[in-house]
Amino acid sequence: MSASTGSATTAGTAAADPPARPGPDAAGLLARDRAHVWHPYAAVPDSGPLSAVTDAQGVRLRLADEAGRERWVIDAMSSWWCMIHGYRNPVLDEALHRQVDQFSHVMFGGLTHEGAVDLAETLLALAPDGMSRVFLADSGSVAVEVALKMARQYQISRAHRVGSRLTRTRIAALRGGYHGDTLGAMSVCDPVTGMHAHFADSMPHELFLPRPPRMGAPREELERWAEEARGLLHAHRDVLAGVIVEPVLQGAGGMWTYDPAALTLLREETRALDLVLIADEIATGFGRTGRLFGCDWAEVVPDIITVGKSMTGGYLTQSAVLTGEDLAREISSGPQGALMHGPTFMANPLACAVSRASLGLIGTGRWQPAVTRIEAGLAAGTARLAESPIVADVRVLGATAAVELTRPVDLRVATRAALDAGVWLRPFGRTVYAMPPYVTSREDIATICAALGAVVSAEEAR
Ligand code: PMP
Repeated sequence: MSASTGSATTAGTAAADPPARPGPDAAGLLARDRAHVWHPYAAVPDSGPLSAVTDAQGVRLRLADEAGRERWVIDAMSSWWCMIHGYRNPVLDEALHRQVDQFSHVMFGGLTHEGAVDLAETLLALAPDGMSRVFLADSGSVAVEVALKMARQYQISRAHRVGSRLTRTRIAALRGGYHGDTLGAMSVCDPVTGMHAHFADSMPHELFLPRPPRMGAPREELERWAEEARGLLHAHRDVLAGVIVEPVLQGAGGMWTYDPAALTLLREETRALDLVLIADEIATGFGRTGRLFGCDWAEVVPDIITVGKSMTGGYLTQSAVLTGEDLAREISSGPQGALMHGPTFMANPLACAVSRASLGLIGTGRWQPAVTRIEAGLAAGTARLAESPIVADVRVLGATAAVELTRPVDLRVATRAALDAGVWLRPFGRTVYAMPPYVTSREDIATICAALGAVVSAEEAR
């Protein structure tokens, strides 16, 4: 489907479009939504541009707008990183159906089930060597909360064991990072863009290291960064519990790709200072950057890994926190005697079943050539955008492309331009970006690049 046919698909007629199935009354649905529903990062009552999803298939969403127009568009966002195998994937559909016919939920305190054990084993088989324990949680933010608790409980237990009086509870994070919207997760998001100012009195005050230099930056820049980061970690060594990073690609904080050598340095320093290194792989995990995990770029094994989003193939909300045995046992031998966390929906059997199916598809390795092909298509299709006077930078890594403008994107203008080009995009701040499903075809990647270009043109004309 080309960008021009994409704009004409009012009845889902383009060759690549699935046949339309009867959907709900979209105009009525949008009106009812406007009356009662809250949307993410949106005001009430005007939540901004809104479309209704009336169907979804493969990499396409069928969207209806308030004018009653319906069209199939390519989901270049993978529904915020997670829908990597596409909508209505037969393998994932089948896994969920099978589990629904058995049982849908049981509590996880004192009980277990095959799906949870299989999922833990599957995760550990994919994870770097040294990981041996899996804590299942309900969302990315909760996984980050659990990881932060683990780091703190580890330091409490260790201090108790060696008779130290130090209270090592603070966390160091990178500027430009994003780790979720709950209070603990927010406290390690970028202090300027991460809502810190609004919640200053209710959040712990963490330590921020400068944002590492971009991938491919000159050696001296990296050395300057390393000196500053090392200095801050050493100066706060007695109060720090750990360091949290999004490896190689900072996602929602601005789609910043940085030098893997920064990870190597952080691994060395955290080991030397006995700090827990947390790799938040919720966005980067399972192939998105071109490696299975972002940490693989530096061949670094962190102490804790958080994963989520694409783990379930986007079907349900589930996340996991992975650790090595020493850390798990140190926490368990401390004064509290256990990790103090236990969500109601922990290890939900439906989520476990679909996660296992999704990771099974990852385990085939087919993601790798797909991501390599998508990366080449995105790089070729976005290169010329750097010439625009309103484009500050274009960054492509794995199955991600970010076009950073010199000024904030107008969401209404950008959404309209992208939809008219046959693509669903959701820019934030100054960045228009795409992270398509791994099953996106070459032609659809070209359409996504054309849509990114259409947004830049629309912004230029504003
Ligand atoms: N960490 C990272 C790196 C993320 O990208 C996100 C979500 N954008 C989160 C944590 C939070 O995940 P969730 O939205 O599932 O709570």
